[in-house]
Amino acid sequence: KNLKASEIRQMYIDFFVEKGHMVEPSAPLVPIDDDTLLWINSGVATLKKYFDGREVPKNPKIVNAQKAIRTNDIENVGFTARHHTFFEMLGNFSIGDYFKKEAIEYAWEFLTSDKWMAMDPGKLYVTIHPEDTEAYDLWHEVIGLEESRIIRIEGNFWDIGEGPSGPNTEIFYDRGETYGKEDPAEEMYPGGENERYLEVWNLVFSEFNHNADHTYTPLPNQNIDTGMGLERMTSIAQDVPTNYDTDLFIPIIEQVEAVSGVKYLQSKEQDIAFKVIADHIRTISFAIGDGALPANEGRGYVLRRLLRRAVRFSQTLNINEPFLYKLVDIVAEIMEPYYPNVKAQSDFIKKVVKSEEDRFHETLEDGLAILNTMMNSAKQKDNILSGSDAFKLYDTYGFPIELTEEITAQEGITIDNDGFEDEMRQQRERARAARQKTQSMQVQNEVLGKITTPSKFVGYEQSEIQSEITD
Ligand code: ATP
Ligand code: MG
Ligand code: MG
Ligand code: MG
Repeated sequence: KNLKASEIRQMYIDFFVEKGHMVEPSAPLVPIDDDTLLWINSGVATLKKYFDGREVPKNPKIVNAQKAIRTNDIENVGFTARHHTFFEMLGNFSIGDYFKKEAIEYAWEFLTSDKWMAMDPGKLYVTIHPEDTEAYDLWHEVIGLEESRIIRIEGNFWDIGEGPSGPNTEIFYDRGETYGKEDPAEEMYPGGENERYLEVWNLVFSEFNHNADHTYTPLPNQNIDTGMGLERMTSIAQDVPTNYDTDLFIPIIEQVEAVSGVKYLQSKEQDIAFKVIADHIRTISFAIGDGALPANEGRGYVLRRLLRRAVRFSQTLNINEPFLYKLVDIVAEIMEPYYPNVKAQSDFIKKVVKSEEDRFHETLEDGLAILNTMMNSAKQKDNILSGSDAFKLYDTYGFPIELTEEITAQEGITIDNDGFEDEMRQQRERARAARQKTQSMQVQNEVLGKITTPSKFVGYEQSEIQSEITD
């Protein structure tokens, strides 16, 4: 079914309202009353108050379309078809009401029924936890999914120490052979760089308590928490190769084409830049609209880094002056139907973005001055710019290596590329080490862990900020 993104969002809400859910509005990206979280990163993150019992919902069945920011995916953005730093998660939740059976049945009906998404059931696969025989039986016997489409994955269990925990089941869409390898089991492992089997929906079954002595006992109140990526569903409905080719992004990309005079889909390298810019301007616009501002630490640093990354990539499109602020209006327009706030604040957002861009362009000028000094001393020696100098320009002044190369080449200086790569690799390792704790866990689920074990929580966001800084 060819559907607009806004239609899919509305259909999801309508479907679950028909099933007796109440609609929870999308909460701001900057968490309210919650200092364990830097950004709202999933649908459940805004519903903590219900999951931890602080508030009793008027209706234990909830549906939402929640804007989310995930900085752990920055490096993927521009390179994979499916990752964003800002995206929308559609979710249905049960607070001690329905459980696995209904959750699975609802998901299947929404995806495959002609009245709703009308997806070809022959293209759907699911993953389950190996010991979750109940989920297996539901998929196999109740839904009728053949055994070869139900893949057991050890990692399909969220557990963050003491507190609620449980298995999950994820639904994947097979985009077909043109997208690559054929072994779904291998490709569905978390972190696998799969382009063929697209993860669209995660259903989490909170059913055990992880006790202090590391035993697991059934929870008296079982909860359901699900998350579906709107951009991914839209790419399937519109039958396009990446999320960026949907109606959520194309108008932004067209605006970048107009500003740069460069065409999308002509060069692989430039396409990455188009995607990075289109992604980051959404994140920047929404984050500022929700009260964040560029700064040197925390949330503001994430924002600053995203903006600089977008500017850096824009040089690939021969853009050398502030331009991101010119994209805010189109973001506002695309998102207005469900998120009127960006449009309402667009003048302010543009002002902040423009001044941050101006500021970065000044840094770029400082970088040029430093580069000149570096080149002068290279000329005294071997006409080689060291890897650490090139890295410093990249890291501190936001110089893409290609830019440095272009400038040094004019002076007959070459760059120690191996040395530069080495510095980049070390930086990635530092970032990875900082992230390691969270890498193996699923972000959507971490939030729940934080609810019940605040004192044990080791600081996902802290390591995240650290990786931001060293990234
Ligand atoms: P992936 O394995 O593709 O990185 P995930 O397992 O980290 O996704 P979950 O934490 O399970 O994602 O989030 C639930 C759903 O939200 C995913 O199934 C996907 O549809 C969507 N989603 C997650 N991260 C992103 C992202 N960075 N950009 C766009 N959509 C996302
Ligand atoms: Mg992920
Ligand atoms: Mg996954
Ligand atoms: Mg997942």
